Amino acid sequence: MSFRPPVRDDLAALPGYHSPQLDVEVRLNTNESPEPPPTAFRAEVARRVAELDWNRYPDRSVGELRAKLAQHHQVDPNNIFVANGSNEVLQTLLMAWGGPGRSVMTFEPTYAMHGQIARVTGTHVVEIDRESDFTIDEGEAFAAMSRHEPTITFLCSPNNPTGLVESRSFVEQSLATVEPFGLLVVDEAYAQFSTWSAIEMLDEDRPLVISRTFSKTWAMAAARLGYLIAPQWIVERLETAVLPYHLDAVSQIAGSVALDYESEMQARVALLVERRGQIQAGLADLGIEYWPSSSNFVLFRPPSDTGQVIWDQLVAHGVLVRNCASWPRLDGCLRVTVGTRAENDAFLGALEAILN
Ligand code: PMP
Repeated sequence: MSFRPPVRDDLAALPGYHSPQLDVEVRLNTNESPEPPPTAFRAEVARRVAELDWNRYPDRSVGELRAKLAQHHQVDPNNIFVANGSNEVLQTLLMAWGGPGRSVMTFEPTYAMHGQIARVTGTHVVEIDRESDFTIDEGEAFAAMSRHEPTITFLCSPNNPTGLVESRSFVEQSLATVEPFGLLVVDEAYAQFSTWSAIEMLDEDRPLVISRTFSKTWAMAAARLGYLIAPQWIVERLETAVLPYHLDAVSQIAGSVALDYESEMQARVALLVERRGQIQAGLADLGIEYWPSSSNFVLFRPPSDTGQVIWDQLVAHGVLVRNCASWPRLDGCLRVTVGTRAENDAFLGALEAILN
């Protein structure tokens, strides 16, 4: 065996991010949209892709898409940075503001990639526990921020995997707390399900960043497209950190065309909210504990520590949900994504059969 140069010590010790995909009939594990975008969207993307100058690099400044996003959010195009999924948006942010000697703060349980990307970029992670009902103790949060002075404080609203929205006053006070030493990043991947957005707090003079994605409500997980909205001085720095031509021309076209179908997106969201009610009612009928959700998924806990067993049996019934049963602070919990009516029925039917 020839010499295998060892990877960085901190990476060697790091477990990967696992989201197993299984070949089953009903996949309700990754919070995707169960419906595709409209047919007219596909036709327009296909038409524009057919006209692409394939021999040329894409628009490095992502001009058209940023202009349309700026119009959509009533901000300046210079307030917008687009990348391959909001994961890459967050990674770029961490390449620029994280790194050795710096730290981020997360409120756990939350979206696991916040901590994961931080660690991969050599950034120290300070984890603060949520209460047993998954809300954040605000006083404790502000005290922790002031004590640790993280370069980035992550909030996620609505929070994955709990589905809870953070209050406007909490986000406002968090921003005021971190302002002297760091950035506040609000991950709004599921924003269209929330009653409010931190975008309204954006200000050139305040260190607030909001990240969004096309993967969920826009029904475009295949495109790998996400963006953030932030003061210009932040966006400029990200452009230094990111690779040249990082965003391909096809994704740029897809995002740009998608924004012409906003009302269809809103209609999908309304439908999912209705179907979420169907899932919650079904769980209640089965006597299963679940958390209120302002998103397209529901976190629930089967009785007496049977989470893992129930997950296995759901798979045997051809239904895949997210298995959080062994995750820290989520003992025995599973997370189901709202699917089509038929998929939701299959999930509830399987659960009922298993419990009986
Ligand atoms: N943030 C949150 C809270 C998420 O749940 C996800 C996807 N699971 C992402 C970001 C990443 O989404 P993407 O990279 O597809 O934009």
